[in-house]
Amino acid sequence: MAQEDVFKKVVSHCKEYGFVFPSSEIYDGLAAVYDYGQNGVELKNNIKQYWWQSMVLLHENIVGIDSAIFMHPTIWKASGHVDAFNDPLIDNRDSKKRYRADVLIEDQMAKYDEKIDKEVQKARKRFGESFDEALFRETNPRVLEHKQKRDALHERFAKAMNDNDLAELRQIIIDEEIVCPISGTRNWTEVRQFNLMFKTEMGSTADAASTIYLRPETAQGIFVNYLNVQKTGHMKIPFGIAQIGKAFRNEIVARQFIFRMREFEQMEMQFFIKPGTELDWFAKWKTWRMAWHQNLGFGAENYRFHDHDKLAHYANAATDIEFNMPFGFKEVEGIHSRTNFDLSQHEKYSGKSIKYFDPELNESYTPYVIETSIGVDRMFLSVICHSYCEEKLEGGETRVVLRLPAALAPVKLAVMPLVKKNGLPEKAQEIINDLRFHFNCQYDEKDSIGKRYRRQDAIGTPYCVTVDFQSLEDDTVTLRWRDSMEQKRVKISELQGIIEDNVTITSLLKKLK
Ligand code: ATP
Repeated sequence: MAQEDVFKKVVSHCKEYGFVFPSSEIYDGLAAVYDYGQNGVELKNNIKQYWWQSMVLLHENIVGIDSAIFMHPTIWKASGHVDAFNDPLIDNRDSKKRYRADVLIEDQMAKYDEKIDKEVQKARKRFGESFDEALFRETNPRVLEHKQKRDALHERFAKAMNDNDLAELRQIIIDEEIVCPISGTRNWTEVRQFNLMFKTEMGSTADAASTIYLRPETAQGIFVNYLNVQKTGHMKIPFGIAQIGKAFRNEIVARQFIFRMREFEQMEMQFFIKPGTELDWFAKWKTWRMAWHQNLGFGAENYRFHDHDKLAHYANAATDIEFNMPFGFKEVEGIHSRTNFDLSQHEKYSGKSIKYFDPELNESYTPYVIETSIGVDRMFLSVICHSYCEEKLEGGETRVVLRLPAALAPVKLAVMPLVKKNGLPEKAQEIINDLRFHFNCQYDEKDSIGKRYRRQDAIGTPYCVTVDFQSLEDDTVTLRWRDSMEQKRVKISELQGIIEDNVTITSLLKKLK
């Protein structure tokens, strides 16, 4: 199946099975805003738990907070967001569509990469077993030509972004003959900067002082609480503060379902360290965060690091963890070495000292920071895209199954009476009443057993149990595994032992190295 089709199917599957709904749907929706349904919220909560516990339970020196979305407006002045949280936008005069200039150019670079990959694939077919890919990439004239064009574009683009040169960004779009995908023309406007923060007013007077912003990241809530946590928790450097919460960005082009939303959720951790140790800690956090992702079992080949060419003015190293989405490798998480920029700025703007007294060195300094920042919704999207699977079964039937890691699945066990009478529903409820304290169970008595299995496969339930007449006699049931569809007769008293160890967040955490 083409990757585009997979993506379309995932989007409609999410709606059909209660994972994600367009927001305000009965009023025709609200662009780039989504609601999570009954299954989506469970999957999302499990992702958050996996992250939270990996930070706060597994690291003695990381604690959590939950700061308010509304913050003092000067915070966003100090952080640089009021002046510089911009995206370069460009309009096509014919289609009247708006684009991010940097994204148009990045897409163009990806086109050169695709051309190179096509050449490699063609050659692999032609040469078969004896194909030496590395040699081919180094010597084939067509590959070299595409690569040379790509590298030149890359260099020009990085410079334009670093210099904040909007005229040059436009010139690149013209020179590369990039057309609007809707109108097919090159009738472009100038490039302009657009601030992504949402504004609102607090209180009843509408003067300038009452303008506040919906936070575009959760990180600043951590920085402004640094002293509170450090002092009250007696924290010693190195230590981290983690937070999960909503963030808001007025994205110019919001597309690809929940990949780019205007209201979304972030899981951020700021790790405070001694100046000079940041590159060591940056390397460690890169390794740890990649291990966290790969621990889900989606295959190491589906992840890669993308080191930044354009560093924010305060950062001295930055990388993204990208996941192989149906629309290409895309950022899911950013890891940044932010120096002491944020704390120093808040010191300056608030007039309060935010220094750390290091008892070992017997001196005070403003700590440096390594940040790990991951979008819950993008993580959700990567999990669901990778898990979605259509399988041909014997007999020609197809089943749609979400091969979710069991610890993330919304429902862990479905209990089904074979028929709706003769004491079977009561027996099934008895099992649920016992197991519901350990993991999420669902009772299902509607339709044939086959249909019920398909429904549970479609929401990724790892285990199903069927209660039949024999169950009433000998307290055994048929246990069915989602992935293998294997079925086995087991004692009811054994169910908890078989299932629990495989479905808890703890089971996932224990696998983390
Ligand atoms: P992008 O380049 O895709 O706009 P970014 O580099 O601006 O992302 P960060 O500011 O580093 O993103 O935010 C950290 C994480 O928050 C991202 O890796 C992503 O998972 C998530 N995120 C950022 N913007 C959005 C959005 N509009 N919708 C959903 N998730 C987002």
